[in-house]
Amino acid sequence: MEDFDDHSHRLTSVCITDDGTMYTLEDDSVPQSLQSGDKQVLTLESLKDGIYRVISSAAPLQRSAPAAAQYSSRSAASMAASYLPPDERSLLVMRVVYDNGEPSCTRECIERGLWEMQSLSGGAVQGSMTDLFSNNSYGYTTFPRELTRVIDVPMGRPLPSSASGCPYSTEKLEVDRIALETSGLDPSTFHHKEYFIPWYFGTCNWIGFANVGCRHPLLTDRSRSGNCWSFLRTSWPSIRTHELGHNLGLMHASLGTDEYGDETSVMSNHAYWSGFSAADREHLGWLPDEHIYDYSPLWDMPVDVRLHALHLPPQHQQYAAARIRCSTCDIYGVGYSFVFVSFITPSSYFADLPARFHNKVFVRLQKAHAQGRPYTGRGTVRMAHLSQGESYTLQSGHTIKVCHIQGGTAAVAISSQTSSVSREELCTKGVYPPLPPMPPPTPGPPQGDICTNVCKANRERYASE
Ligand SMILES: [Zn+2]
Repeated sequence: MEDFDDHSHRLTSVCITDDGTMYTLEDDSVPQSLQSGDKQVLTLESLKDGIYRVISSAAPLQRSAPAAAQYSSRSAASMAASYLPPDERSLLVMRVVYDNGEPSCTRECIERGLWEMQSLSGGAVQGSMTDLFSNNSYGYTTFPRELTRVIDVPMGRPLPSSASGCPYSTEKLEVDRIALETSGLDPSTFHHKEYFIPWYFGTCNWIGFANVGCRHPLLTDRSRSGNCWSFLRTSWPSIRTHELGHNLGLMHASLGTDEYGDETSVMSNHAYWSGFSAADREHLGWLPDEHIYDYSPLWDMPVDVRLHALHLPPQHQQYAAARIRCSTCDIYGVGYSFVFVSFITPSSYFADLPARFHNKVFVRLQKAHAQGRPYTGRGTVRMAHLSQGESYTLQSGHTIKVCHIQGGTAAVAISSQTSSVSREELCTKGVYPPLPPMPPPTPGPPQGDICTNVCKANRERYASE
């Protein structure tokens, strides 16, 4: 266990009672002796923002096995992983029909986008929005067909004019009211609501628009519904996926100063199929901690980590990603974050990526989340994509070197700033960390505050769906 002296961003720990209630803990207050999986009586004090402080703890009732890594990061995700049932989500899709305009995508077209495997931009990947969630979450977060409805909502009046600005929030209330009246379906009983609106809708100029962090997969209070929404002026499935990604708690995949510039992630604005990054999968609890190798900042021996391709579910004796805590990775004004190292092959939803991204080890910054809002991420920044033999040194001095890429596995060496092993020797002097166990993936906790996010995109690119 580590002590970090920067209190500007708290790590989130969670504890879960026998009846499944989850408490987010102020990390500083958690006794150093506690490890993931321990069972123990804690006395908590409620702080603001839904965070609790540990006031006292009794002797452990049950100790977990020692952590495999040098230290346990105790992310909220992994803690809850094995405690929650599958994350099944209901979805109401509403085609908002005005007297003088309606969405170009018919109900059949919307249904096809949900369920029918289709290629995008002439790519080889056959995918759908619902399949992508199921696939990228390794079966954890799903949109079952029986929990989905697609309806027309006849507004009985003309479209909002440009004089009314972009009145999505007032229209949302009206659409919900009319949907209940005309279809008998109560939108507030669905986890997610998608509003398909005509292309010309007041002065709205986004392609898609969604609230962020309204239903993180680790949320324990699953009874809450109706607070996730997205507006869509296009039916492009990857845009719908991107907007639902916001609902789950993700922000954008950036490259340099281009907020949408990491074209290898569905949280960018590119028009082909791609997937969620390792950092995003961790944030959403889809990747359990046992399958992420944590490189300790205090560890100055190089390590040699075997990574399997990210599209595969957790594998025996290989890690899905390596994670480096980087308190000095303040590029682009972001500090105290994690760096994720993962391996992507042109398979599954990554098969349409441009060739320069095939069989590469990706280095990504996972930006620190806002204080007190552990379920709303701040997005990722792609730092590098490396071929065999290439290396990348973080601002913190950690070096990541790709030793070997073979047979769907990447061998990656990581060293610290203080390591005496040179970059050239990295791949021969590294030690192997303990290998991960074979566990079920799954996740766990609370509710981020709702904030809004506007998705900009190249209008022409998505206009011709
Ligand atoms: Zn967006």
